[in-house]
Amino acid sequence: MLQTIAAFDRIGEENAFAVLARATELAQSGRDIVNLGIGQPDFRTPDHIVEAAIKALHDGHHGYTPATGLLATREAVARRTLATAGVEISPESVMIMPGGKPTMFAAILMFGEPGAEILYPDPGFPIYKSMIDFTGAKAVPVPIREENGFAFSAEETLALITPKTRLLILNSPANPTGGVTPRAEIEKLVAGLADHPHVAVMSDEIYDVMTYDGETATSLLQFPEIRHRLIVLNGWSKTWAMTGWRMGWSIWPETLYGKVRKLAVNCWSCVNAPSQYAGIAAIDGPQDEVEKMMRAFDRRRKLVVDGLNEIDGISCIVPKGAFYAYPNIGGTGWKAKKLASALLEEAGVALIGGPDFGTLGEGYIRLSYANSEENILRALERIGEFLATSAHSP
Ligand code: PLP
Repeated sequence: MLQTIAAFDRIGEENAFAVLARATELAQSGRDIVNLGIGQPDFRTPDHIVEAAIKALHDGHHGYTPATGLLATREAVARRTLATAGVEISPESVMIMPGGKPTMFAAILMFGEPGAEILYPDPGFPIYKSMIDFTGAKAVPVPIREENGFAFSAEETLALITPKTRLLILNSPANPTGGVTPRAEIEKLVAGLADHPHVAVMSDEIYDVMTYDGETATSLLQFPEIRHRLIVLNGWSKTWAMTGWRMGWSIWPETLYGKVRKLAVNCWSCVNAPSQYAGIAAIDGPQDEVEKMMRAFDRRRKLVVDGLNEIDGISCIVPKGAFYAYPNIGGTGWKAKKLASALLEEAGVALIGGPDFGTLGEGYIRLSYANSEENILRALERIGEFLATSAHSP
């Protein structure tokens, strides 16, 4: 790995944060902005989780914890993995991380170096490519196609593997598309990976329980044949509305666990103690607030998809997971980033242009429906009106 200043210059951005900053600036200057840009639940962290953190501080839990996380928090993650994925894991394979992102950082850092290739979803979460570029490895996009319901294609993914491939990044349910890859496709992919024992897998399952219409996401943990080369990324941010707590977890093969533990010791020491107690309460406590949030997301999902499909030039397939709609805007004549920028500056609607998620993002925009029904309706009305009255730029 070549961590020179030049490597730092290759680090990218997550444009959702830049859009959030601009939307906030416009709002502060008195503009009425509807923000469908940032990917975080608009719900409060449930009270019992907040109380658990406060109690932990009052009880004196304010010091360092083990770098891997409190055993009790790791045991809670093991219970949760059994409950959601039906898989028994050892707490000794669990790392408590300061959010979801540090797991991708650690995994990509472990496998990326000049000469190596890393496969990542395109469109996909922008940090994957940014971190791959940082390591000097070649970032190889795996196309995620609308005609495929924004699921991975096992065949297409496997065809991109070369002797230089070190890591394959998967994400289902997916950001930015809301796509959920069907179990059969994942089975095909895992079967094909038997021919490529040199390839490790990082499965980003941060939206694992955020699915709709009875859809269930398949965890890669359910395939024991790849467990020795599988890293699973997950966390509290989305499911329990805890983005600002910076609480994530990951599950590692034995051979890599010591390495990520050392990275933690050198980099962040441990995740803050009270949050780890809150994390236990989130997993073990009542889930009714989570269910309420998911019911609200489901209603908004329908609202946003129906509304988008009524706008001339826009078509939107029904997302099966996460809280994003990813409409095709090909019929409007607009370039995606120009449209996103014009909608923010002129119509007061913040959303993200597809190209911010990869080279295949042209022709699409991402709307986060983590906002009230009232605001979603206002945004849809503004988008429709804007497109009907504005000449598109080339
Ligand atoms: N993975 C995916 C697919 C995401 O969409 C996000 C956040 O948007 C993350 C990981 C990062 O989560 P965190 O905020 O916990 O770092």
